[in-house]
Amino acid sequence: MMVTVNENYLLLKSSYIFSEINRKVEDFQRKNPDADVIRMGIGDVTRPLPSAVVDAFHSAVDEMAQEETFRGYGPEQGYPFLREAIAENDYASRGVEVSPEEIFISDGAKCDTGNIQEIFGQDNVVAVTDPVYPVYVESNVMAGRAGPADETGRYSGLVYIPCTEENGFIPALPEEKVDLIYLCYPNNPTGTALTEKQLAEWVDYARDSGSIILFDAAYEAYIQEDGIPHSIYEVEGAREVAVEFRSFSKNAGFTGTRCAFTVVPEELEVPDSQGRMHSLKELWNRRQTTKFNGVSYPVQRAAEAVYTPEGQREIRESIDYYMENARIIRESLESAGLRYYGGVNAPYIWIKTPEGMDSWQFFDMLLNEAEVVGTPGSGFGPSGEGYFRLTAFNSLKNTVRAMERISELSF
Ligand code: PLP
Repeated sequence: MMVTVNENYLLLKSSYIFSEINRKVEDFQRKNPDADVIRMGIGDVTRPLPSAVVDAFHSAVDEMAQEETFRGYGPEQGYPFLREAIAENDYASRGVEVSPEEIFISDGAKCDTGNIQEIFGQDNVVAVTDPVYPVYVESNVMAGRAGPADETGRYSGLVYIPCTEENGFIPALPEEKVDLIYLCYPNNPTGTALTEKQLAEWVDYARDSGSIILFDAAYEAYIQEDGIPHSIYEVEGAREVAVEFRSFSKNAGFTGTRCAFTVVPEELEVPDSQGRMHSLKELWNRRQTTKFNGVSYPVQRAAEAVYTPEGQREIRESIDYYMENARIIRESLESAGLRYYGGVNAPYIWIKTPEGMDSWQFFDMLLNEAEVVGTPGSGFGPSGEGYFRLTAFNSLKNTVRAMERISELSF
């Protein structure tokens, strides 16, 4: 006998997209030392934490410095003050019933969306939209649910639901039986959103077929239009079939501070192989209390401050700032004669590459002719080929400069 690795990890396609982008940009800069490259491919926020958040963060650190107010391990599920603030401000205020006990605080939607598959059986059939946030796919590859991948990166054991120009980026219900469905709306990378009616079709499907929806709402705060649900629980019947993931990363600039949460409703029950029903909330609680020791107290106090009137005003201002960038990007693409989607209820703009150009050829063109860097759509899944992602996470100045350059190109 000898030690061996988890061979599921060997099935992972090397995620070469961001290293390939960096290699190409470095190469370009070496050849063009005076080039002023503007990066519009990054999915990270650029504005600092709101001052209300920083003040709460500071005072919580001061509490940790005094014997009388020092705190050690907190509840693995998160402090009641934060769970209550979320239940009240994110849910009750929109007429949605979610209790603090159904909210689990964590250090990221990335970990939660990656970890959630652990509480489901090995044989579950997993469906993802295509293109997709890669964590949903790769966490299931690691768990052995996805099988091997072909040269386009498509794993044989997963069900891919294409979201393309042809279907208006609205995922069609699967024809085969699936058990777990990952949905992310507003969507990364396409920047598109689902209306309440469109989301309700998925909830009805899950109810009829006995499947579970894993709903990633990390970009909820970017929704501008009416009729787009901020939470899947705005849809009737969703509490029996959906888990929801939220994050403070993109609404309040917590990408480097780390705080998020997952909602697992009381009603959500899944059978074992004998047909006995089990509470997913209890299983997730068991998973978290075993493998996770909670988010730091100052970070939870900082997150709580997002819900103060000052915090709300400040996060609204940042989101408006990014969405103004998105508007500028959309208008410039329009005048450049490019087809694009998204950027209305999300910070992402998904460009259709011009006739005869694939995702990487378009990347090269923008880099060489406009010195602008974006993300080739093919990096997000087979159906992302022929598309290209720009993000609104940038300074207004850089966004304007980048778009002036793109407007001068002819396609
Ligand atoms: N979900 C989606 C769809 C994302 O795009 C991202 C980050 O880019 C995350 C989750 C990660 O969020 P967090 O910073 O809370 O881990």
